[in-house]
Amino acid sequence: MDSPTPIFENAVDSLTQGIASYLIRDESETAIKHAILTVYHSIELFLKEGLARIHPILIYRNLDKRITDDSPTVGLEEALIRLDNLGRGLSAAEVATLRELRIRRNRIEHHRFDPAKDHAVVVGQAFHFLLGFLPAHLDVELRALVDEEDQYRDLLEAALSFEQRREVAEREATATGSLVIGCPVCGENTLCLEGLYHCYFCNDDIDMTECDGCDTLCYRPEISRRGLCESCAAKNALT
Ligand SMILES: [Zn+2]
Ligand SMILES: [Zn+2]
Repeated sequence: MDSPTPIFENAVDSLTQGIASYLIRDESETAIKHAILTVYHSIELFLKEGLARIHPILIYRNLDKRITDDSPTVGLEEALIRLDNLGRGLSAAEVATLRELRIRRNRIEHHRFDPAKDHAVVVGQAFHFLLGFLPAHLDVELRALVDEEDQYRDLLEAALSFEQRREVAEREATATGSLVIGCPVCGENTLCLEGLYHCYFCNDDIDMTECDGCDTLCYRPEISRRGLCESCAAKNALT
């Protein structure tokens, strides 16, 4: 895949602002407004980046006129159609998510901001969209664009349903290419054995160790003081 253009950096900058605003939405009444504006802006740019990586002139609205740096660029609908025509189209659900976000963004941009409980849900769906779009179209994971691991975890917890988080965690764990097993803390099949034992659902390193009796990989807090797993410890007590 082609390397990022300057559009990408601009998109990431807006996304960073958007995530920060979204995470403080309970502390400030207008935080979600800024989240809608900046997340929408970042998505428009990410779509353009997707076009630009196919060919740089594809971001411009009129391809039959002489193109300069100031030529008008495509909006959301044109970008969606172009991606579709290029065989890189989005699903109906993804398009619906983006249109819903745009309705709210337009109301703020051109009219006024009405606080509404479901603004946060719509922005959450936009993050869910990016979780799929970024790796599929721009060869990057959302995780890599968020500065702090804690912030990424907070974002997933706030923005996604339990099912969606599990989906994302399973995908991220499998993407590492290492063996994945059930995590003793959360019970999900998202613990990666490569290097550190990292659970992509807990989004944390898990303290694992081998039982001295049977060599089974165990959660350290469940190992006895003699270094044995529960069943080895029970057997030991019998002899
Ligand atoms: Zn876990
Ligand atoms: Zn054992």
